[in-house]
Amino acid sequence: MVFLIYRNFANKLFYNQGWTGSAHFYMTKNIETNDGVTINTGRLHKGSGIQQRAGKHGFDYTKYISAHEFAHFLFGGGHIRNVTNLSLLNAGPVWNESRGMHSWEREKLDWINFIDVPLDKNSTITLDDYITTGDVLRIPVSKNEWYLVEKHQNISSHDWAKDEGIYIYHIQNANRFPPTITIECADGNWDFKIDTKTQTLRKSTPNKKGKNETNFSQRKNKTNYACYKKVYGDNSAWGDKYDAFDLTYNNIFSPVSNPSSKNIGKKEFTIEIKEKVGNKVSLNIYFEDIYQNTLPSKPQIVGIENVHSITPTLKWFQNEEPDLDGYTISIVQPIKKTIGNVRKTSNELKLTNLNLFAENLISVSSFDTDNNNSLGSNLISIKWNNTKKEWNYTLLERN
Ligand SMILES: [Zn+2]
Repeated sequence: MVFLIYRNFANKLFYNQGWTGSAHFYMTKNIETNDGVTINTGRLHKGSGIQQRAGKHGFDYTKYISAHEFAHFLFGGGHIRNVTNLSLLNAGPVWNESRGMHSWEREKLDWINFIDVPLDKNSTITLDDYITTGDVLRIPVSKNEWYLVEKHQNISSHDWAKDEGIYIYHIQNANRFPPTITIECADGNWDFKIDTKTQTLRKSTPNKKGKNETNFSQRKNKTNYACYKKVYGDNSAWGDKYDAFDLTYNNIFSPVSNPSSKNIGKKEFTIEIKEKVGNKVSLNIYFEDIYQNTLPSKPQIVGIENVHSITPTLKWFQNEEPDLDGYTISIVQPIKKTIGNVRKTSNELKLTNLNLFAENLISVSSFDTDNNNSLGSNLISIKWNNTKKEWNYTLLERN
């Protein structure tokens, strides 16, 4: 295996639309050395090596591009989309972020073994840092459809996850390269809105069946829209600090949570983040009585209506847990207090306590018939616009 590494390669000489590496030598003919060795041109396993021309991007980039091209030699010519910097053979919507291998990649090379759970009973599993220990939980819904669960802790330079905690991936086409991998981002799936006039993209309303910030990508009027700056408010397409499940942000991944564990194999299960044990995190995986056993998922606020009224109406999506009992609505800023309890059949509350002169932050939590409380929803920020005489609101990512 020959690694051909250029440095100070002029930009204009980048080949093939500016790729900085290739699992191909692009030689016009094979080279015979004096001692009788043949160096083959040709791609992947047919060629004798790989090349990269990324020197100007620095050592780290050079290192991971070389690893990426070598990985093509091992896996094949394709790429895994939508996994950003959480895999080595990643591809769009954001490129050039290859880092430590995804657990799907490592296991394919037989470097690790998955921890499988039985699909007919409840289990408790404790996971240590994935990158440094290789711990990975697998829920094999079927031969070709899995869930893989990794804990990321950012203790290795190969780990470029933007968040710390439990990453859940839905894998389809699991037995072939490239698999389809969806990061089940803890900040949920959304409807996204493109404004072609201003060439901007924004999240509008939570939608379990929608896309998330790492896999939304659309081309419209010759412009690419994904969650990166230029068209979006931030660079969440590379991941952000709300992607991992943990004890305080999002602790339930169930068939009715957002994101949801609904799958093609129709296997119903819930993952509950149970506790932190030192650096490890223990998880409960439920297949039996999943709603009776677990807390409800955190509610999803839709927005406010009657924005010109001094008492606008807060709306949220109804939770779908069959044992749900109701919701608690709280102001957390400027003064922390509970402002309402409503029954499960309602999904709105008239806000009579808003402050006209400050930012109002409001949260909704849910509780079930066993009095288990969900985490608080993401916050809605509500401010009075005195010029337009109306309330303006923003759905925040944090809770
Ligand atoms: Zn590649």
